[in-house]
Amino acid sequence: MKQWNGWGDDQNDLDLDLKPSALGYLQKIIGPSTPLPDATLEQAMSKVPASRLPPHELFSLDAEDRLRHARGQSLPDWLAMRSGEFGIFPDGVAFPTTSEQVQTLLQYAQQHQLSVIPYGGGTSVVGHINPEAGDRPVLTIDMTAMNQLMKLDRESQIATFGAGTTGPMVESLLAAQGYTLGHYPQSWELSTVGGWVASRSSGQQSLRYGRIEQMFAGGRIETLKGTLEIPSFPASSAGPDVREMFMGSEGRMGIITEVKVRITPLPEHESFHVIFFPDWDSGHKALRETAQSKVQLSMMRLSNTIETFTQLKLAGSGMAIKALEKYLALRGAGDSKTMFTLGVTGSRAQCKSALALARGIARRYGGVGTGTLLGKKWEHSRFRSPYLRHGLWEAGFVVDTMETALDWVSVPGAPAVMEAAISAALKDENETVHVFTHLSHIYPQGSSVYTTYIFRCGSDYAQTHARWEKLKAAGAEAIVKLGGTISHQHGVGKDHAKYLPAEKGELGIAAIHGLVEVFDPNGQMNPGKLLP
Ligand SMILES: Cc1cc2nc3c(=O)[nH]c(=O)nc-3n(C[C@H](O)[C@H](O)[C@H](O)COP(=O)(O)OP(=O)(O)OC[C@H]3O[C@@H](n4cnc5c(N)ncnc54)[C@H](O)[C@@H]3O)c2cc1C
Repeated sequence: MKQWNGWGDDQNDLDLDLKPSALGYLQKIIGPSTPLPDATLEQAMSKVPASRLPPHELFSLDAEDRLRHARGQSLPDWLAMRSGEFGIFPDGVAFPTTSEQVQTLLQYAQQHQLSVIPYGGGTSVVGHINPEAGDRPVLTIDMTAMNQLMKLDRESQIATFGAGTTGPMVESLLAAQGYTLGHYPQSWELSTVGGWVASRSSGQQSLRYGRIEQMFAGGRIETLKGTLEIPSFPASSAGPDVREMFMGSEGRMGIITEVKVRITPLPEHESFHVIFFPDWDSGHKALRETAQSKVQLSMMRLSNTIETFTQLKLAGSGMAIKALEKYLALRGAGDSKTMFTLGVTGSRAQCKSALALARGIARRYGGVGTGTLLGKKWEHSRFRSPYLRHGLWEAGFVVDTMETALDWVSVPGAPAVMEAAISAALKDENETVHVFTHLSHIYPQGSSVYTTYIFRCGSDYAQTHARWEKLKAAGAEAIVKLGGTISHQHGVGKDHAKYLPAEKGELGIAAIHGLVEVFDPNGQMNPGKLLP
């Protein structure tokens, strides 16, 4: 079962403890810390109030179901879960198995003036699925019982899934038929295909398979105004695209119950490789040239110098890392080095040629290849890193991220601007923040910029939350000043809503309001999210 107060499934024993060398490194940079006390499930459950809903055959009023659907995975959510102070709970949780049941629930919600929160995997990091305080009872609709491969059209390479199908289920159902979707957000283990569409998700191999926008071909949506079927076309010039309107709708317009996605035959070959560049400048120029030359890689990620250093520290201070660093320094990638992780996916011939082209470009920028070991290590830990949050927490540290996307003209300087803003945010408390950045979704036009920050817990939960608020505001304001999007892949939810007008403009926000009102004139669907 999903952990009630952290990341992942409680059957997975992946609580990656911090290696002593990594702990020592963090303590040296930001100081030793004391972990905050965790509440027990019983303590947290004792605060669930009585439901305001009457019993109904299609939803549960059980206190534990309500607690398990009250929070997502943002840092405020993490602090709420760990302290046992969840705040607001849904009054009921439904687990529909058909689109018709979803429509029945929506009609009930309309009749009784409930707020409705569509819920996929609950992996939101921006407060998407948290109930708001208010007079209306809140019904959360958990879609994970709709988890089947409903149809497979081999000729057109379109698969239809129940919207609550999680990443591993999508891939195993498709792999049995010889196909893949290839959508791998780091939250893949728990997030769902409906959640991906509703929050405009991007997977680690978006370079080959595209973002969810390119994969989502159509589907079925239940709204308070009735059912909407979105047909799938390879392309269309028939006016504005209704399919587009539901991408990023964040549960505000309706509940996606069936999702048609564009799939690909399983690749013949896939491998990941690591190249080091002498510095940031050579690294980002090489990535830009690789993307603009349309080399067919499946992923590219460039860690800046401080992230490279941190990654190598987290990997341990063993002899192998020391030997690697010595070798790299001899080849020109010394203290300022940046780490480039790349993937190739496809036919053997395609992979061989793409790898040769990418290596050729990298060499011209001083890139030094390292064989396949580090690439294999990245592959091994690609979905394990979120568990590291547990190890950090137990040592009294908290980790969060900020991400944006910018044109190439602004990308090179962006990490320094974001890092400076975040680093300075706790200066008034004399607290040091450990901040580092990577570029991870690379486009010919620009790139996503993804900054991670680690800081010490305060002396209590309130102080820790206040620190996060300062850090988040500093990062978000830096992004707005840089002219970047407030989110490349995590969506808007509650935490980014106030920054959205800077991006969409007054008229743009009014148009989105208008669209939402067509489906939900009384503001019942996921209120308080997306729109400020
Ligand atoms: C450790 C970690 C790593 C992450 N890495 C990535 C990443 O690499 N890339 C990325 O894109 N995101 C990432 N995320 C963010 C998150 O996983 C994505 O936003 C994901 O798409 C959410 O999917 P979900 O099924 O969990 O949706 P939820 O969190 O349950 O919901 C998200 C939003 O979608 C709405 N929604 C969900 N299902 C439906 C539906 N069927 N119909 C209508 N609305 C619906 C909800 O109301 C809510 O507004 C990460 C999160 C974590 C915790």
